[in-house]
Amino acid sequence: MAERLRERGISDPEILSAFASVPRHEFLPDAVGHRAYEDAPLPIGFGQTASQPSLQALYMQHLELSRTDRVLEIGTGSGFQTAVLAHLVDRVYSVERIRDLSVRARSVLDRLRISNVALLVGDGTIGWSRYAPYDAILVAAAAPDIPAPLVEQLALGGRMLVPVGTREAQRLLRVRRTENGLESEEVLDCTFVPLVGRFGWAGGGGAEG
Ligand code: SAH
Repeated sequence: MAERLRERGISDPEILSAFASVPRHEFLPDAVGHRAYEDAPLPIGFGQTASQPSLQALYMQHLELSRTDRVLEIGTGSGFQTAVLAHLVDRVYSVERIRDLSVRARSVLDRLRISNVALLVGDGTIGWSRYAPYDAILVAAAAPDIPAPLVEQLALGGRMLVPVGTREAQRLLRVRRTENGLESEEVLDCTFVPLVGRFGWAGGGGAEG
């Protein structure tokens, strides 16, 4: 896997070693487990998708993480990206709207003895105010606009990666909160499953937790 990520321009040794130390197959349904070490998005049930590892690595590289950063992830999904983040920073907070996915992710994280992760079942478009502000926020589903509560929960100097666009196609934006407001730049074109919630898209696709 590390070799594939390197080919795709991921150069940060800490990120490469974090990916190498998390067994992706543990987080995937049995039906796709044999494809766990391909650099491909894979179905995880409930109409959802585990993102492509190289795209997840790119997120982490653009977030410029430091060990002491407090990180919020929206869209726990399989929990694989959550586990990789847990190797890079001291504390990870992750919100997922589909209860069954969150429960499954929790059991795999426990089995792997990854203990620095807090999971919440709920609407991540409103963030997780309890532990705010966050130094980095990763949104792993596609939003119509940058959800305002997430901007509010971003620390000064904090970075957020969020795919913004239509339900079909998005641009991955990197947003930085500065003293003068928000700075935003486009990273690449992408396609994510919809972010469903109050500051996202309306219903459909998966049961509410
Ligand atoms: N990082 C995950 C990506 C999963 S796909 C992985 O690689 O496995 C995106 C996830 O976002 C889905 O699990 C979906 O249920 C979840 N999601 C969509 N809208 C959400 C919302 N408003 N709050 C929290 N999670 C949401």
